[in-house]
Amino acid sequence: MEFCVECGAEEKLYGHLCKDCLLSKDLIKPPAHVSVVVCRACDKVLKGSRWLETSPMEEAGESLGKETKTHTEVTGLKWEIPDFEPEKGEHMLECNAVASIGGEELSLPFKVSVKIGMQMCDVCSRMRGDYYEAIIQLRRGDLGSQGSDRDLAEADAGILKAISELGKADKMGFLAKTEEVTGGIDYYLGSMGVARSVTRKIRDSKGASITESRSLVGMKDGKELYRWTILIRLPSHRAGDVVVFENELHAVESVGRKYMNLRHLLSGKKTRIQVGSGNLKSIAPKENLEEAVVVSKAEDTVQVLDPRNMKTVTLSRPAGLKDIGETVIVVRQDEELFIV
Ligand SMILES: [Zn+2]
Ligand SMILES: [Zn+2]
Repeated sequence: MEFCVECGAEEKLYGHLCKDCLLSKDLIKPPAHVSVVVCRACDKVLKGSRWLETSPMEEAGESLGKETKTHTEVTGLKWEIPDFEPEKGEHMLECNAVASIGGEELSLPFKVSVKIGMQMCDVCSRMRGDYYEAIIQLRRGDLGSQGSDRDLAEADAGILKAISELGKADKMGFLAKTEEVTGGIDYYLGSMGVARSVTRKIRDSKGASITESRSLVGMKDGKELYRWTILIRLPSHRAGDVVVFENELHAVESVGRKYMNLRHLLSGKKTRIQVGSGNLKSIAPKENLEEAVVVSKAEDTVQVLDPRNMKTVTLSRPAGLKDIGETVIVVRQDEELFIV
């Protein structure tokens, strides 16, 4: 029979010692304290040189495990850390060290000091520090104030929505700030990739033109660092507007990225011209068109009530306009009405 070398007890031994004698030794010697660094903005935890989404308890448990000294009889050790609010400063925590000794698990309570330090992680410090990689410059088209205000507000809402959606997948896709400037709005973004995706969405939904430029702002790890500017120019003409082209009234039927289609108001003749060719004059954005009640219709003319004074006026009937209902859409130019 083996017996404990210290007290002589004849019972199950752990090495050369009985359990009581073993527990009188320093089986487990935790460090004076462990430190955990937490991002004050997003609660991520610093592990080595990387910020990870782990809990401060888990990180404290791992550090304790590494820094605790154990008796040779201890073959395994696990720390149980209670939940605590990771506020800056020292926390005295009632922890359990679960030690494996001779095939058994012994749970031993310890008071452990956990010091929480607060820093800002790399992503958060960039966000706070006015960091940005790209500027989207949204600019109104030349529509007259009513149409372009509405277009600008719609594009603004579209951009903000797209940024918040795309920003969920890309941590650098944050909006650092926005600025109202003459003619539009500037958006400062953390990611050029997100800026490009946002811009593409607006171009496709609004028929806007896009110009991209970049400037060198420095070097990082031997690579050139650029800051990008993307100009979104909202179109000056939209489908439904009435314009003057070659001194004649036309309705804009459609606007693409390069070409737009016009319809002569009286003859119905279609013309395709280049977007931005410059010889168009906006007469009425579609918001300014009026609706007139039809009084009577003949082959070449339509009589309507002028919506401003309810006087009957006779208008030329556009060629190709077959069905005329109870009202027609009209545009006013030099106090004269034309059917659109
Ligand atoms: Zn003993
Ligand atoms: Zn953070």
